[in-house]
Amino acid sequence: MRTLFFLLFAFSFSVINAQIGHPGQCGFLPDEDFTPRLLANKEAARLNNHDRNDSIFYVPIQLHLVGNDEGGGRMTEKRALQGICKLNQDYAPLNMVFYLKEEFNYINSEAMFNLQFPNVPTSVTSLYAQNKVSNAINIFVGNGLSSGNSGYYTGGQDIIYMDKSFMTPNAGILAHEMGHFFSLHHTFFGWESTTYDPNQPTPQTVMWGNWSNDVEYVDRDKNCETSADYLCGTPADYITVGAANCNYTGGAVDPDSVLIDPDERNHMAYYSFSGCPEYHFSDDQMEVILEDYDARWQLSNLDCPELKDVTETANLISPSNQELIETYDNVDFEWEPVPNADFYLIEISPLASFGLIWDQAVLKNTTFTSNELSANRDNYYWRIWAFSQTDFCEIIYSESGHFATGGQLSTVQEIDFLEEILVAPNPALEGKIMLQFNSQKTDHINLSIINTQGQTIQSINNQLITKGNNIIELNLAGIQSGIYYLRLESDRQISTQRIVIL
Ligand SMILES: [Zn+2]
Repeated sequence: MRTLFFLLFAFSFSVINAQIGHPGQCGFLPDEDFTPRLLANKEAARLNNHDRNDSIFYVPIQLHLVGNDEGGGRMTEKRALQGICKLNQDYAPLNMVFYLKEEFNYINSEAMFNLQFPNVPTSVTSLYAQNKVSNAINIFVGNGLSSGNSGYYTGGQDIIYMDKSFMTPNAGILAHEMGHFFSLHHTFFGWESTTYDPNQPTPQTVMWGNWSNDVEYVDRDKNCETSADYLCGTPADYITVGAANCNYTGGAVDPDSVLIDPDERNHMAYYSFSGCPEYHFSDDQMEVILEDYDARWQLSNLDCPELKDVTETANLISPSNQELIETYDNVDFEWEPVPNADFYLIEISPLASFGLIWDQAVLKNTTFTSNELSANRDNYYWRIWAFSQTDFCEIIYSESGHFATGGQLSTVQEIDFLEEILVAPNPALEGKIMLQFNSQKTDHINLSIINTQGQTIQSINNQLITKGNNIIELNLAGIQSGIYYLRLESDRQISTQRIVIL
């Protein structure tokens, strides 16, 4: 892994515009408000003096799992949660506990999945805004950045984007980006686009983008309050990457020719990307983080999560163990609710070892329907992991169930409670069509427009219909002219209307 980082880094300086900062690693670019926020937090810390040992600081997280346009390639919920568990380990010295504010959010967008960086397209920034949840830290996990960075925090959007391959229990990158979220600079702030040159006298200032930054001296009595990361708890650091075994021996000296001795294990240094055994924040970094937390959420206004430990596993109900199901589509799964559980992960596999997952989902309720199973398979296995907003680091599965599929398709009936279905005008004009019908009951249906190849072009899920006459207007804007089917679905019932779009 270290070799990879090194290669990415070497590449970045030869090819990519220096404005980008430090590709291969973190893509953070501070905006104008960033340093003033840090300084305000630092001043508040000086006045307040947090007692970290007395309180637990709960931090709500919203995870946005990004796939390509078809929803492919997305990081699994299980892996993403492991990344949050690692974050919790990294922030344990601050008594900070990250928890899930709401259920996972799923975004299908090629532009966000493989993100153009640093010139993020406006289509993506507006997607950030649309999907962001207030009063939580929004983490978007995609496939990665065109620049090769592992992730970034942006003050403008106030979100973190992570390359999914770096959001693992083995990487501390999320802890680093979270440090930026809480107003911390890199320990080497200023040197992002300047390479230390041992053959030149060490300059007194370095430029990064529009910023001119004072170079930090080793002597703590000189300028540590006003240079680099503005914190004296972190020693002078000139982004001297390449510390073998987490020990920098590169020999860089400060402007007084004093040898620098950086903190290789600091989360906000770049040694944090090179596999040191463990990392930490300095005391003053921790105080800044906690002040930023206060400033953002003001403890009194933040709902504390209910601490719910999940100690039991789910009892599987259906399919029953060893059951032979006659069909293979629309296979229904059901299990008993587990005390304290907020979420259930279901995994279905053709292997008893679950070495290959055929279908999986995270659900709030205790039923699931799979359409991913093959016909006439003797061996399928399924299991459930129940977890809560605050208890998701230890994965304890239920016992696994075993079943087999048959070769039949599940029978689908015509929806029997809808009458006098009328679609007008048909052919549809001006991008609109009206659906009118009489319903014998109040219910929810799904509506989809399917092309002649059977692909869903547009859908509305959970449309409420009321007893009596219903009129639903469908917007067809953007759909190419041609023949389509309008499908109405309710549980196991279906109705299809042929429509023509001009
Ligand atoms: Zn960074």
